[in-house]
Amino acid sequence: MNSQVKHSPVKTVNPFTNKIEKEFDVMTSDQIAKIIDKADEAFKTWKNTAFSERATIIHKVASIMRERKQELGKLATIEMGKLLAESIYEVELSANIFDYYAENAEKFLADKPLEVKHGEAFLSYEPIGVLLSVQPWNFPYYQITRSAASNLMAGNTMLLKHASNVPQCAQIMEDIFKGAGLPNGVYTNLFIPGKLVSELVSNSKIKGVTLTGSKPAGASITAAAGASVKKSTLELGGSDPFVVLEDADVQEAVNVAVAGRMWNAGQVCVSPKRVIVPASMYNEFLEKTKEAFAKLVVGDPMDAATNVAPLSSEQAAVDVQKQIQKAATQGAKVLLGGKRVAREGAFVEPTLITEITPEVDAYFEEIFGPVFMLYQYNTIDEAVEIANATEFGLGGSVFGKDTKKAVAVARRIDTGMVYINHVTGIAPELPFGGTKESGYGREQSPAGIYEFVNAKLIRTTSSDKAY
Ligand code: NAP
Repeated sequence: MNSQVKHSPVKTVNPFTNKIEKEFDVMTSDQIAKIIDKADEAFKTWKNTAFSERATIIHKVASIMRERKQELGKLATIEMGKLLAESIYEVELSANIFDYYAENAEKFLADKPLEVKHGEAFLSYEPIGVLLSVQPWNFPYYQITRSAASNLMAGNTMLLKHASNVPQCAQIMEDIFKGAGLPNGVYTNLFIPGKLVSELVSNSKIKGVTLTGSKPAGASITAAAGASVKKSTLELGGSDPFVVLEDADVQEAVNVAVAGRMWNAGQVCVSPKRVIVPASMYNEFLEKTKEAFAKLVVGDPMDAATNVAPLSSEQAAVDVQKQIQKAATQGAKVLLGGKRVAREGAFVEPTLITEITPEVDAYFEEIFGPVFMLYQYNTIDEAVEIANATEFGLGGSVFGKDTKKAVAVARRIDTGMVYINHVTGIAPELPFGGTKESGYGREQSPAGIYEFVNAKLIRTTSSDKAY
């Protein structure tokens, strides 16, 4: 990183008002080098800190988050625009994930005996060092939590590069970690622009990288990790299919799909972006979807009556509207919405699009906004073909009363997660992650804690009985 170049500050711009709220200076290369050194130094102690001691601190992080959930929630809403109720829910979910790893890490990382003919063999799970975590803005607390909870409990130390539009959420979490008693250097923010992050990866003190975000960012950081032979995980975009089966309760499927798609103004990697219904049900589904749209209230994210928030930034709103316009130009039908809302703020109208063919780019792309795309199918094979048509493979849903049939369809969908009769959900004990161009690796659940530990084999036997 060239220390002579002056970078513009990272800043909070409230997307409801488009006003700048707060700015933070970008760190210099010297400051960053010192932070990395400190994280490496802190690792020497943290890796040997007892699980019980780590757990006390991480439980404390959870309890501080719960105590301060209103304040934290408001901050997320100011920084990236999501509904206040969704922000508060996110704080509670994050607290649950911290508690989950505080309670279970020691059990997950206990030595694992292996069956051998002679003597003993076991896996000893050991932390690897300083990890660089690069995260997006759409769940400012949850995204930090997913990698921090498991990896801090495993004994790794962490550097967080959060998205540039949520610096206050990044800062408050660092403060909460400190307030909970986490030793200096174990978890530190880096205020730098995303395009400079990959340069840090070659620092020999950084032992692994994890990124949640877009494909270009993921490709850039994992190329850097590969060049220095470092472990990486990626959680990238998604265009989740929501397949409705013939026996589904239509009203319930509509309610769940519309609410799911409008969650976080559609800026959710696992939002039901493509709703795929039987041709025989199509007209009824469409009418009910229009009715559900008529009940949507776009407005102030702090107001409990609002259910569609602004997008995270003016640029995000411009980009989503461009994608909608392009879909229309390419032959799709925009039945509802499609325009900017005539008011201040980064709003896009809740939008309903149909007749999306492979000639339309949106058939393959992710639209990160309140855009509901409705497809129809004649056979299950056709439904599965549409579901698997994109290069994404994150989540998905199958809706139907006969669970066995729904599970059979779920098995044919090429994604990392499929939920039956609900949208892709999140729980500490369930793994989260994708396949194809949605990335690799898992967070949450027992699986999340094994990504950045060395599963070291230790074998004891006499040399004459080794094999
Ligand atoms: P993004 O531009 O890739 O930003 C994500 C993070 O990467 C930010 O911290 C960003 O920093 C940084 N970054 C940007 N360019 C980089 C580069 N060249 N090298 C390294 N880091 C870089 O993503 P976004 O478009 O804001 O976020 C939305 C995307 O994330 C969507 O595709 C969404 O589906 C995906 N997402 C996936 C999951 C999941 O679990 N799979 C969860 C949430 C979101 P700056 O802010 O400074 O640019």
